[in-house]
This record gives sequence, C-alpha cells and structure tokens, in this order.
Amino acid sequence: MLRIGCHLSSSKGYLAMAKEAVKIGADTFQFFTRNPRGGKAKELDLADIRAYLEFAGEHGIAQILAHAPYTLNACSADGGLRQFAYETMCDDLGRLSHIPGSMYNFHPGSHVKQGVKVGISYIADMLNRINQHGFSTTILLETMAGKGSEIGRSFEELRAIIDNVEDSRRIGICLDTCHVFDGGYDIVGDLDGVLDEFESIIGVERLRAVHINDSKNPLGSHKDRHEKIGEGQIGLDAFMHIVTHPRLRHLPFYLETPNDLAGYQREIELLKSLAFRQ
Ligand code: FE
Ligand code: FE
Ligand code: ZN
Repeated sequence: MLRIGCHLSSSKGYLAMAKEAVKIGADTFQFFTRNPRGGKAKELDLADIRAYLEFAGEHGIAQILAHAPYTLNACSADGGLRQFAYETMCDDLGRLSHIPGSMYNFHPGSHVKQGVKVGISYIADMLNRINQHGFSTTILLETMAGKGSEIGRSFEELRAIIDNVEDSRRIGICLDTCHVFDGGYDIVGDLDGVLDEFESIIGVERLRAVHINDSKNPLGSHKDRHEKIGEGQIGLDAFMHIVTHPRLRHLPFYLETPNDLAGYQREIELLKSLAFRQ
C-alpha cells in the first residue's frame, strides 16, 4: 500500500492538517514548522497536538514530515546566521518531540563562496551540536538541485556530511525527485543505476522519505522548478517505476507540486493507481 501525502499549510494547526489530509486520500503530510521564510513559530498548542494524535491514530496517519524554513543556512559565512539556523532547528525539534515518529527535513545550505568543504564542515558541526540535546526526531538532509552553491546536489556531498556527524543514527536522507533529476541523476532513463549509486555511496537504509515532484526543466538543469506529476520532464512512466520500486515503495511520498488541494487529491489518486497497476 502506497503511503502518500502532500505539503499542507500549517497555519491552522496539526488537527486541521490531518483532517485535510484524510479528505484528499492522504495518509501522511508535510508542513513548514513556521513561516518558510523564517521568523517565529506559533505558540505550541498541546490541546491541538493531543487532538491530532487521537485523530491520526484513528485514521492511520502514522508518520508526518516537518520541513525546516528554507531560508535557514547552516553553512553561511555569517556566524550569526549559522547560529540562527542552529537555534531554529533546536526549537523545531523540541516541539516535534511531542509528535512521536515524526521526521524533520532541511536543506543543507549554500556555501556561497566558501567552497564545498567548508560548507560541509559547518553543516556537520551544527548537526553535532543539535545531537547534544538528544532529540528523538530523525533529521533528514534533502537532496538538492545544485542551484547556485547549494550543498547536497551529489550523493558524495551528503555522504561527507554524514561522515562528519559523530552519532549519525538519527540522520537520514529525503530524496526529492525533481531535485535529483535537476541535479543530473537520470531517474527517467536509469532509475536502477541511480539507486545503485545511492546504495554504494550513502546506503539505501538512510533513505527515509521521497519528495515526489515532476520537473519543469530537463536533466541536469540545476533550476529547481517543480511541475505537476506527469506534466514535466520526468513523466508518468518514470513515476510508475518510482512508486513501485522495491527500494522505494515502502517509503512515505510527499507531493510538493504546484497544486491546490483538489489538484493534490487527483495526484494522490493517480499515483495510487500507478502503484496498484504493477
Ligand atoms: Fe525542500
Ligand atoms: Fe523537496
Ligand atoms: Zn525544490
């Protein structure tokens, strides 16, 4: 059974998101922990969380994915901005400890002119500092498109970050299909080859979630423009192979396509039918 959901607005709280998810046929969802551009998170609403946990239990929502604000840059040249990324993530992870089994995804960051090596060491440093708090939530590094000086385009860069984390038991990877395709990994022509490469460089047991998006641009464009499922350069046939692949099909899938709720509902139905057909 395909586990699938989409990105939802968190402005009305957890219970509201879970109800929305169930309404569109999803059994999981992703959300921003706060305004995606950063800023303060809302007051933690424990009554909402209790109601959410009860509703989620009744409706088979077992695991959800929180997404850090994408403006955080754990490898900024500015020490103040690195500290801000660290503090924001600690605050988010503290909140998420109220939601057992949740995962937390973030963009590794952009090194700007410092170089990949310096960037990787800053990101690993931050994760090491975060680990000292003993948070229970699994942290996912997202595979990136390689726009500008983004770190995390290549599996080697992600591996290097993990290698520099002292205790990496709670570090995983979220594979974004638009980003890896945009980053130059041919998941259309050679999905098995890409996953073999992932296995040999990172190890497939690190893979914990998939962002399932089509791409407006061709292989290796480094542009990061998501498209609706089947309407971009990845295409339906490739998505059928992705949702049924023995190395992927057990993972939770999250749509981040340009859609309203009705559009997400259609894509969830479509992907479920593709998964079922195999
Ligand atoms: Fe993301
Ligand atoms: Fe993504
Ligand atoms: Zn993206």
